[in-house]
Amino acid sequence: MSDAIKTDVLIIGAGPCGLFAAFELGLLDMKTHFVDILDKVGGQCAELYPEKPIYDIPGIPQVSGQGLTDALMEQIKPFHPTFHLGEMVETVEKIGDPLFRCTTDAGKVFECKVLVIAAGGGSFQPKRPPVPGIEAYEGTSVHYAVRKMETFRDKNVLVVGGGDSALDWTLNLHPIAKRITLLHRRDEFRAAPHSVEQMRALVAGGKMDLRLGQVTALSGAEGKLTGATIKGNDNSVTDIACDTMLPFFGLTMKLGPVANWGIALENNLVPVETSAFETNVPGIFAIGDINTYPGKIKLILCGFHEGALMSQKAHRYVYPEKRLVFQYTTSSSSLQKKLGVN
Ligand code: FAD
Repeated sequence: MSDAIKTDVLIIGAGPCGLFAAFELGLLDMKTHFVDILDKVGGQCAELYPEKPIYDIPGIPQVSGQGLTDALMEQIKPFHPTFHLGEMVETVEKIGDPLFRCTTDAGKVFECKVLVIAAGGGSFQPKRPPVPGIEAYEGTSVHYAVRKMETFRDKNVLVVGGGDSALDWTLNLHPIAKRITLLHRRDEFRAAPHSVEQMRALVAGGKMDLRLGQVTALSGAEGKLTGATIKGNDNSVTDIACDTMLPFFGLTMKLGPVANWGIALENNLVPVETSAFETNVPGIFAIGDINTYPGKIKLILCGFHEGALMSQKAHRYVYPEKRLVFQYTTSSSSLQKKLGVN
């Protein structure tokens, strides 16, 4: 087990509600670390609707999902939160009163006095293509994300999909892979036009292959892929050689490991009381889309309010000996000093 990273607060989920919570916690001198499964911050705003406008953030008549994420990142900069992206918190264990040990699927261990679950609709997980026996190759020859490009050097890679991820990885891996084949159901792509143009130029130059159809079977043994059977749109069936397959069929949201942390759940949501949005386990809070209470609305602005109230109670756990004096950012010189504006 690796050495534990010690922090006042661990926030699971770097969506908008988790991000703003780091601001409220920072004002009260609490240090935060974030873990998020995605390789970027912003949760649903950045992953599902980065370019769509949001019209109901108080005081901001219109902002895109990515614009709000960027603004929140700017706002929490003075508090230097640390981000651990591309990792999922798998286990949570109570080891003190309160003190928690949390581990990620990458083997990282955290010890925190307060745990904030800001996991939204749960974890984004890749959609698995309906290919019989694909599970046997997952993690060895079939990968749903590219964590390290070097892994694919000199590989015979089959990329499956027609969106931005499929096109981006086709183009990024092309220079290092032995050969790339892109497979999509039809000759139309839901990706940035210039990526599609680049891909078509590589195909025209004989530098990669484009196939239209679907994978119906995989061949290989002991997790090592040797080929894929493709049913073409003209019903032809062909086998192609490949040792790696990268399916990019989008993401789906599942509750994921939150269900195994010993916290009370109600219809896949975490019930909380509404004075501090604390769960049934003292020291573990839930804010944003993941929580439930009478009258709950899944709006970003509600999650912001929840983060502010949560921080007041979290302060009692992190600094049990200190009295908390309520202050406004407008008039408190000590808060302004923390924000670097005074
Ligand atoms: P999320 O944004 O869901 O972020 C949760 C994060 O937690 C994710 O990044 C996830 O990867 C991570 N996570 C989950 N489990 C784990 C784990 N075990 N380990 C590590 N990380 C984990 N709301 C509005 O207020 N106004 C709007 O106009 C609006 N428009 C919307 C439009 C669309 C198309 C959609 C889909 C939603 C919209 N919403 C809107 C809802 C809004 O996006 C959500 O309320 C908001 O994103 C919730 O924020 P959150 O921080 O609670 O969770």
